[in-house]
Amino acid sequence: MSFEHEIAEAAELIKQCHCLVALTGAGHSTASGIPDFRSPESGLWERADPMAVASVWAFRQDPGAFYQWMRPLVRTMLDAKPNAAHLAMAELERMGLLKAVITQNIDNLHQRAGSQKVYELHGHMREATCVRCYKVYPAEPLLEPLLAEGRVPYCACGGALKPNVILFGEQLPIRVFNAALLEAKRSDLFLVAGSSLEVIPAADIPFVAVSNGAKGIIVNFQPTDFDRHAEVVIHGDVTQVLPAIVAALA
Ligand SMILES: [Zn+2]
Repeated sequence: MSFEHEIAEAAELIKQCHCLVALTGAGHSTASGIPDFRSPESGLWERADPMAVASVWAFRQDPGAFYQWMRPLVRTMLDAKPNAAHLAMAELERMGLLKAVITQNIDNLHQRAGSQKVYELHGHMREATCVRCYKVYPAEPLLEPLLAEGRVPYCACGGALKPNVILFGEQLPIRVFNAALLEAKRSDLFLVAGSSLEVIPAADIPFVAVSNGAKGIIVNFQPTDFDRHAEVVIHGDVTQVLPAIVAALA
């Protein structure tokens, strides 16, 4: 395969480092069939204006419209399977080489691939929270009635239940973000995989790592601002490149 030289170089950096931390974004899950939530090309926004359905203000006004929009996406996420890039990340952790994965994705695929230490900057779908009394519910029992009948989940108090994903207009979960930032600062090698680093503040994290002395590796189809800060830049497919790096380490 192509990128042989870069892959060998990346493997060498991983062998030499003491603390490798990774950041993954939408591109990491595209091969699993998950559309890029925030990309205009994803098709998700052809039928709806993001601010009108997937912002926190819109949710409070009309949770039904949000869930109607969200329903096919939920089905896609539940049906999705971890791809070779997720499995490679989990393998790097099992090999004792990767300290943590910081992800912008909400699809749970890192955990399903076997990753243990995952920081979900944009939340997840495992739980839902009442917008009125803030009671937290496990999401699984709510999803089937939603998928089957389009039923909007409500709390016992009458408030609508919002999945614990970060909607437009919401702050990132501050404790998760700070913990992820700390991992980045401690790292001496930072790997970006499948993220174009366009959504801040998540996109700032690799820059924090390199400004604290870490070296950088990036695997992403498109060029990013991080490229000129990285020792190894691979404009390739994460599902091919990451397993190749793992293979070069074995
Ligand atoms: Zn409630």
